[in-house]
Amino acid sequence: MSVIPHLINGELVTENGRAVDVFNPSTGQAIHKLPLASQATIQKAIDAAKAAFPAWRNTPPAKRAQVMFRFKQLLEQNEARISQLISEEHGKTLEDAAGELKRGIENVEFACAAPEILKGEYSRNVGPNIDAWSDFQPLGVVAGITPFNFPAMVPLWMYPLAIVCGNCFILKPSERDPSSTLLIAQLLLEAGLPKGVMNVVHGDKTAVDALIEAPEVKALSFVGSTPIAEYIYAEGTKRGKRVQALGGAKNHAVLMPDADLDNAVSALMGAAYGSCGERCMAISVAVCVGDQVADALVAKLVPQIKALKIGAGTSCGLDMGPLVTGQARDKVSGYVDDGVAAGATLVVDGRGLSVAGHEEGFFLGGCLFDNVTPEMRIYKEEIFGPVLCVVRVNSLEEAMQLINDHEYGNGTCIFTRDGEAARLFCDEIEVGMVGVNVPLPVPVAYHSFGGWKRSLFGDLHAYGPDGVRFYTRRKAITQRWPQRASHEASQFAFPSL
Ligand code: NAD
Repeated sequence: MSVIPHLINGELVTENGRAVDVFNPSTGQAIHKLPLASQATIQKAIDAAKAAFPAWRNTPPAKRAQVMFRFKQLLEQNEARISQLISEEHGKTLEDAAGELKRGIENVEFACAAPEILKGEYSRNVGPNIDAWSDFQPLGVVAGITPFNFPAMVPLWMYPLAIVCGNCFILKPSERDPSSTLLIAQLLLEAGLPKGVMNVVHGDKTAVDALIEAPEVKALSFVGSTPIAEYIYAEGTKRGKRVQALGGAKNHAVLMPDADLDNAVSALMGAAYGSCGERCMAISVAVCVGDQVADALVAKLVPQIKALKIGAGTSCGLDMGPLVTGQARDKVSGYVDDGVAAGATLVVDGRGLSVAGHEEGFFLGGCLFDNVTPEMRIYKEEIFGPVLCVVRVNSLEEAMQLINDHEYGNGTCIFTRDGEAARLFCDEIEVGMVGVNVPLPVPVAYHSFGGWKRSLFGDLHAYGPDGVRFYTRRKAITQRWPQRASHEASQFAFPSL
């Protein structure tokens, strides 16, 4: 079994100490050992980033952007290799892995615009012989902590932008599928990034706590589950750090009586069961307005769920791979047991699925519940698996109240042909990302990504314009160059025009 190293100061390093196994979820076998960074290892990464910062912050933005142009090319050239690594450790299909990489590359493209993004703001003649401008300066050493479900894309939401803004970065990827994340960081160094500007350290709570506690780390970007997001936000901000912590989700799709049902069903199949439901934007609740829509929806979904092509993610042409770990599979199965016990109607049961040739893999078939009600755990909690819950309501207002009352507010969508209903939904729904006839409204890289309520702790969303604000701090400079012959008398009143 190979050992996956850290990447510190441009070197691949391993350490003796605590380690965990990384599994291939399709076979259920451990394939790599992953060292868990000690506090001392984290400090080495911080020292490297700190040492690299003065030269990097003074590197012209256009030169920083040139590294990102080369990085984009390398990512595209290595798409097959990266997708294979993602699929081997996460379990998602190769096509899905390539899709997440492409969405990650979008963020590198946005970072290529660094000279434009960092131009600042300028005002001439704000007073007599006085000009003023605002500069966006880097913070210094910043860190990112990322989840297992997008090992390529979510880290790419963070460090390309942080780095073109002039910061040095420490990434702590998920311990479940770190190989693609590491390879991508190595490609960034190959693109010409000076050593120490980008570092990757593997680890668990010990590593994360060391990053939180280090005074040199000025900002933390986190993506993962809500309890950990809340913890990192509270502990980081307590220490004066800037923190953006994106958490869990329960995303509802509203089906109106006038929806184009066939297209809505196709959209829901991908959004609920793609990546085995392990997406923070996965649709896990279908809210049907009226029994007629609900009956028709369930009737159309059942055969499609039963026909899902499920197997090892690395085989081609599949719809769904396994869940990431045996523990994740058992947890999702437990939710299905719970839903049955609570009285929901289990219309399709994916429990106990065995895939020929992969009997030890962490597989679960697609599951569908009807007649789910808001007090059930399967409705309230994030399941993070291939389970779709149908909730029946009588009106759009009732559907919206249900969504607004939910503790999470990451994504949502509405399927309708009625512009008035769609507009009301967009205006009044308390969710950060909204789709109209679009099931996974993940914003493109030049907008920003973030939920509301307990799906995000902090003020600024991830990547795009908010990302630039997050990774820079504003300095406002006011400058006077008096004319030689003039004499300025003292002014004791507060300066004004
Ligand atoms: P997780 O919270 O278990 O882990 C995320 C990161 O936190 C990992 O790097 C992990 O090592 C670290 N971590 C875990 N326990 C910790 C602890 N006690 N203290 C400090 N750090 C700790 O999440 P996950 O299972 O990897 O990912 C799935 C979750 O992420 C889901 O809840 C999903 O909704 C969420 N997610 C959210 C978004 C979003 O944009 N809102 C995107 C992707 C995933």
